[in-house]
Amino acid sequence: MLLRMSSLFLRTLRDDPADAEVPSHKLLVRAGYIRRVAPGIYSWLPLGKMVLENVTRVVREEMNRMGGQEVLFPALLPRDYYEATGRWTEYGDTLFRLKDRRGADYLLGPTHEELFADMVKGELSSYKDFPVILYQIQTKYRDEARPRAGILRGREFVMKDSYSFDLDDDGLKRSYELHREAYIRIFDRLGIDYRICSAMSGAMGGSASEEFLAPCPTGEDTFVACHSCGYAANAEAVTTPAPPPVTTEQPPMRVLDTPDTPTIETLVNHVNERFGMGITAADTLKNVVVKVRRPGSDKTEILVIGVPGDREVDFKRLEAALAPAVPEIFEAADFERHPELVRGYIGPQILKDLGITYLVDPRVVTGTSWVTGANEPGKHAAYVVAGRDFTPDGTIEAAEIRAGDPCPRCDSPLSIDRGIEVGHIFQLGRKYADAIELDALGPDGKPIRVTMGSYGIGVSRVVAVLAEQRHDELGLRWPREIAPADVHIVGTGKDNQIEVALRLGEELESRGLRVLVDDRANASPGVKFKDAELLGMPTIVVVGRGLGQGVIELRDRASGTKEEIPLDGAADRIA
Ligand code: ATP
Ligand code: MG
Ligand code: MG
Ligand code: MG
Repeated sequence: MLLRMSSLFLRTLRDDPADAEVPSHKLLVRAGYIRRVAPGIYSWLPLGKMVLENVTRVVREEMNRMGGQEVLFPALLPRDYYEATGRWTEYGDTLFRLKDRRGADYLLGPTHEELFADMVKGELSSYKDFPVILYQIQTKYRDEARPRAGILRGREFVMKDSYSFDLDDDGLKRSYELHREAYIRIFDRLGIDYRICSAMSGAMGGSASEEFLAPCPTGEDTFVACHSCGYAANAEAVTTPAPPPVTTEQPPMRVLDTPDTPTIETLVNHVNERFGMGITAADTLKNVVVKVRRPGSDKTEILVIGVPGDREVDFKRLEAALAPAVPEIFEAADFERHPELVRGYIGPQILKDLGITYLVDPRVVTGTSWVTGANEPGKHAAYVVAGRDFTPDGTIEAAEIRAGDPCPRCDSPLSIDRGIEVGHIFQLGRKYADAIELDALGPDGKPIRVTMGSYGIGVSRVVAVLAEQRHDELGLRWPREIAPADVHIVGTGKDNQIEVALRLGEELESRGLRVLVDDRANASPGVKFKDAELLGMPTIVVVGRGLGQGVIELRDRASGTKEEIPLDGAADRIA
């Protein structure tokens, strides 16, 4: 069936949605692929649903090919499964919890290890039944602290989650390897640019857990990569040292040993000037955590600032000093009461004033956080460097991470980039099997504790990632396998152009292509061209003024090339 613009349930928008910050969010909404229902919750319109289905199909085909068996679990789950593994508590605020009419606790599943483990326990008993790989493509729920960027980080989203069950470590390694290979095929077919990054600490390049990160300036993950030996790791895994104990003897910040970094003394002088604190270089700085909210923002940000360690913090004075930059301070607390934050933070404004490059702990640095501070250089593959927290328009830029000096494997220089996690493979081991006593009966009649792997792909996120990686200022640029249609035929003109466009569409369809025809009688050529570019089908065919001379125009959306071809034989040429 031809898709016809005249009847398609689609309205494109000229302007970016007000809440959109990243290209995929802007474009997917403007092109009428998705619509917002609530923060992090979106509806899929016809074209969007087609793209989502295409991604789903690729994932399903490759999961089946590697021997996975598809199942479907409910999203609405009783508390006891997650109670048994401790995750009812561990998951914290990210878990959507609800009660039924009898007051019993339920949750909306954020990931399903518990349920799969329990299912296998119920169905399988003999060692002969293993190994087994089960998967589902299903809606997940996470009450993300910062749902952002449309479907990139949803609170409701589609995930492919699979789980492997093996009898020994070698089996688990094989199941993991099968997934790794399947993921490579999946992301290659999807046309995503990705890097496989170790998600484990240490230089071993981790096989126990790896992430598939799609390089993208808007990504929330940062990874380092070595171009000599192929080492790549999520900075999160290699940057963070164990939290050092908070002791008064230690200076709160280690200034990097580079010519442009000031001494502690310079820094202290500056703090004095700015806040009138009266600190001497001999004072130990102690840190105060200030929670703030900027005008017009619904985001909570955390500012950590150094004050003399030997005196009570004068919050009134601090507030006054901060007022020009941060009008609304609604909570402030002693740093010591927040042991989850490591020592060594100081207000970024101060550092910015001084043009300092300094190190921070990524565990507390988020896209909108002001938390910055010091880490130990030299030990890790990456440091976080913040230098531009305040931009002229008052927004806060995410802290940057700088690559470490030693590829930890081969000592070559490392590059550093941002990425979006599209997939994650993980050798879980026996954690969940232990929690529910998942055993297989061995050949000698003795129980064997089963070992598990868990593997995810962000199916709906992939749609946004493709939009992030493949767009230009005019709109989306889908790879063929994922696009809602192969060809978008635009008929413009008052003669028989629309008729010809429809006929060409049918010819292409009979050759196996999926075709969208802009057959609207009342839309101007300008509007039609804009829409074609915005919607992003890989091939655009214009049946317009040239029709009088028997020619039509063929455009390649990805490369932007245009050529005129004769209408005669066009269907064969395009197919
Ligand atoms: P992130 O680091 O982006 O928060 P995660 O590590 O919490 O992701 P996993 O628990 O590993 O995610 O889930 C498997 C996959 O599900 C991820 O690799 C990602 O592609 C996808 N995913 C996770 N959270 C979301 C979300 N909020 N919206 C869309 N996709 C998500
Ligand atoms: Mg997460
Ligand atoms: Mg992650
Ligand atoms: Mg993950």
